[in-house]
Amino acid sequence: MKILVVEDSRSSLAILTKYVEHFGATAIPADNGEMAIELFSRNRPDLVLLDIVLPDIDGFVVAQRIRAMEKPGDWAPIIFLSSLGDDADIEKGIAAGADDYLHKPVSEIVLGAKIRAMQRIVLMRASLIAVTRKLDAANQELIRIASSDGLTGVANRRYFDEALSIEWRRARRHSNSISLLMCDVDYFKLYNDTYGHQAGDECLRKIAAALSRHTERPSDTVARYGGEEFAVILPETSIGGALMVAEKIRHAIQELNITHASSPTRQVALSIGIAAAAPGFDNPPDDLILAADKALYRAKKEGRDRVCRADAT
Ligand code: GH3
Ligand code: MG
Ligand code: MG
Ligand code: MG
Repeated sequence: MKILVVEDSRSSLAILTKYVEHFGATAIPADNGEMAIELFSRNRPDLVLLDIVLPDIDGFVVAQRIRAMEKPGDWAPIIFLSSLGDDADIEKGIAAGADDYLHKPVSEIVLGAKIRAMQRIVLMRASLIAVTRKLDAANQELIRIASSDGLTGVANRRYFDEALSIEWRRARRHSNSISLLMCDVDYFKLYNDTYGHQAGDECLRKIAAALSRHTERPSDTVARYGGEEFAVILPETSIGGALMVAEKIRHAIQELNITHASSPTRQVALSIGIAAAAPGFDNPPDDLILAADKALYRAKKEGRDRVCRADAT
């Protein structure tokens, strides 16, 4: 344990240093305020014993500057050394960031007891910080799990709903258009029937990965909308841009070259419905979903493995 001992009286400094060393700690002596701050920043002690009256800056300023120097999560207890009867100094010291005080002349027994008490607080604090960190990490993981689809790893329906609503409002604020792609795997029931459910799952994983690879902007969201349906939100994208993304995706799925012997195209393919909107207060995001869904239905009806755009939104 390192203890910064700040005291301008040479004899008091020598006595305090001796006490600290009796206690088994390492003393870092300083006989003025600036030196105390310099030694604090260099050595990061576990505890500070701080005299109030110093030749340059007083102990209150030293305490304030030490507290200002600490990063979030850092904390070294500061014990003020005050003369008997100076209650106002004690109040001011605590206000400046100190944690406790000792009357001068300091008793070795009381100093030892205070050091032990402060050590206990430091340890408790460290274990609290460790637990908080673990909780933070667990929370992050929970958020990730709660927003992603277990099978494919892309966003789940819940995340999609939230993202669409956020992007809808953002587009409305900036008068941007927003596009939505609804993608549905063609003859997927037949795929499962032919190759089994596990192969079906693997196929969905590959499709999700291809969708993610081909949506490049950080603000684009690929989500599993349900079963073998995927939705892609394209903020700040017009219908023309959405059409390009959709065709790129459709080709990417063809390039996966997943055999589907029971399908007329002999390989797994996607039908995609696209719609774009300029969000206002009177057109809810549900209208965009509905329009993209209708376009998807048309893509199915017109022969599948194709992109269809909504008439007008
Ligand atoms: P269409 O071309 O009209 O889209 O035909 P389809 O067979 O793809 O459509 P349908 O909606 O009849 O079938 C969807 C199939 O998707 C049925 C279901 O078993 C399968 N499916 C949905 N979710 C999963 C999943 O998580 N894993 C697997 N392996 N299959 C799934
Ligand atoms: Mg002094
Ligand atoms: Mg479907
Ligand atoms: Mg389907």
